[in-house]
Amino acid sequence: MSNIQVLDPHVANLIAAGEVVERPASVAKELMENAIDAGATAVTVEISHGGMTFLRVTDDGKGIPADELPTAFLRHATSKLKTEYDLEAIGTLGFRGEALAAIAAVSRITVLSRPLEAPFGASLSLEGGVPGAVEEAGCPLGTTIVVRDLFFNTPARLKFMKKDAAEGAAVFAVVQRVALSHPEVSIKFLRDGKQELLTPGDGKLQSAVYAVLGRELALGFVPVRGSGEGMEVSGFVSLPACCRASRNYQFFFVNGRLVKSRLLMAALEEAYANQKMVGKFPGCVLHLQTKLSAVDVNVHPAKTEVKFGSDKQVFDTVYHGVLSALDKDKTRPAVQLTPPAPPPAPSVPAPPPLMVHSGNNQLQQLAIESLQAQAKPAPRLRPPVDITPPDPEPEDEPPVHITPPPAIITPSPVNLSPPAVDVLVEPSLEAPPPAPPEPDPEPEEPAWKMAGEVFDTYIVVEQGEKIFFLDKHAAHERLNFDRMKAEGYTPMVQTLLSPAVLRLPAEECAVLLEHQALLDEFGFGVEEFGSGSLLVRQAPDYVDPADVESALGELAQTLLSTGRADPSSARDALLHTMACKAAIKGGWKTSPQELARVAEAVMSGEVKYCPHGRPVAIELTKKMLEKQFRRA
Ligand code: ADP
Ligand code: MG
Repeated sequence: MSNIQVLDPHVANLIAAGEVVERPASVAKELMENAIDAGATAVTVEISHGGMTFLRVTDDGKGIPADELPTAFLRHATSKLKTEYDLEAIGTLGFRGEALAAIAAVSRITVLSRPLEAPFGASLSLEGGVPGAVEEAGCPLGTTIVVRDLFFNTPARLKFMKKDAAEGAAVFAVVQRVALSHPEVSIKFLRDGKQELLTPGDGKLQSAVYAVLGRELALGFVPVRGSGEGMEVSGFVSLPACCRASRNYQFFFVNGRLVKSRLLMAALEEAYANQKMVGKFPGCVLHLQTKLSAVDVNVHPAKTEVKFGSDKQVFDTVYHGVLSALDKDKTRPAVQLTPPAPPPAPSVPAPPPLMVHSGNNQLQQLAIESLQAQAKPAPRLRPPVDITPPDPEPEDEPPVHITPPPAIITPSPVNLSPPAVDVLVEPSLEAPPPAPPEPDPEPEEPAWKMAGEVFDTYIVVEQGEKIFFLDKHAAHERLNFDRMKAEGYTPMVQTLLSPAVLRLPAEECAVLLEHQALLDEFGFGVEEFGSGSLLVRQAPDYVDPADVESALGELAQTLLSTGRADPSSARDALLHTMACKAAIKGGWKTSPQELARVAEAVMSGEVKYCPHGRPVAIELTKKMLEKQFRRA
């Protein structure tokens, strides 16, 4: 007997099924995709035990005629493709004709379906892929598929399943993605009888984003709309200040299909260069629409990978779309203070009240005059971004603390138990969801004036009914950075009276020498001076000679941690460090002219984030103060 044999169909099916059906989440994905392909307007997914024992998907789509039910479960049986040419322009989510066969091969499955014109429905059950008889059944229009006991006949696979909670979470994640991919379909999810998601299905991506990702995340998004050759990109991306510690909130869809794509990820993230904090990632819900023929979806059985006809066009479209959304956003990223937690218990001593001194009157007058002279129409403001306190800062400078409300809450101790909500800063609950897609006419913004400086660190600005606290260092750092980047960096150089000899760790020495030319541009004259030592003859004028060693050490660390391989990111990293060093410092005295220049940059919208993506402004409103003083 020959060694090589054609596998019997049962084994072949099990092997093929393994590629498509990895876990309950893959079943949910395939069944939801079928429902959407069938034109459903509402799809419900229900699971028990993480989807392992029970997973039901119900839709109100076009249904499957009774006589076609058995065919639907055959391998390579599909209504979505006819000829090879159809493969070149696939407009449906499914096309491989594999899913139902694969799921049926490894479970006990029942389908109930009734097409629009049929007076009755029909049902068919299969066990391990073996079909029973088609029977007449009373059922609503559309299709219901119940999958029980997944992998009951493939113990090897069953062994690899995680706990129900983990499998259930994976199903939920799939449901959420499908909901974001098709906002025109109302998606409902129930886990062990409890409803966990319902999207309205009103066709607005914004509504789906709200339902799936929640208000907090949605408020940190700005809308994107862009186009390139034969393609369009739309959706939402994070404001730089609202970037996250992981990429878990990046969702990309190509022609309504969820895809994993390094290309799209790179295009998105490139648009945030120098705007977000290192180690933070933008979130997004981005839809790319292309000509069907411009993308090949037939790359992988799970259909989550795609190949583009032109990677460059796709990259450019997404990159520029996102970049212009970020540029267009005229919000001063003023962090609004909102109460993160329930009100403090009455026994907790009240924190010291926030005192806003008007400061030096002369200074104030000077600044006001200089600013009024150059006052220009201010940009339109959207409701401020409401973000949670940031994660611990990875950077070297004193972090901008987004102080929780205690700083501005001063409940009077004699006050007879005011209603809890009264002592809280009013959260902007009525804030509309992220900016409406159509721009509304720009309302005139009231003129602003500088009201002083506090702690030698924060510039206080008054504008209409609002007060802003600007971090002078962060804002100035950004101004420096943008200027250095745009105009090239030509620092004033000081020749050190006696050249400094620095002993640095070998690694730091090496990386500095590797970037000697770049350092030269930045005003540091550095030479090799025996092993592990550097000779420094020159430094930029704003670096105190006593600080040259620490400055170079810092630059070495920056170079080691970033762009050793990539010269442009090495330059940006050095620019960050030098912009920071050249910036006015918190806690130092600053001239009124300089303060006015910084305030102008922030209030005009020129400066939005420090180069590490931290906000430069915090906002209070008159209303908040009135509440605190019981004037409201
Ligand atoms: P594919 O989706 O690749 O065509 P499937 O195995 O997922 O392959 O489904 C086989 C066929 O069964 C589909 O082409 C479609 O005609 C039909 N079908 C499956 N699910 C549904 C559904 N929920 N509503 C209507 N028709 C369905
Ligand atoms: Mg399918």
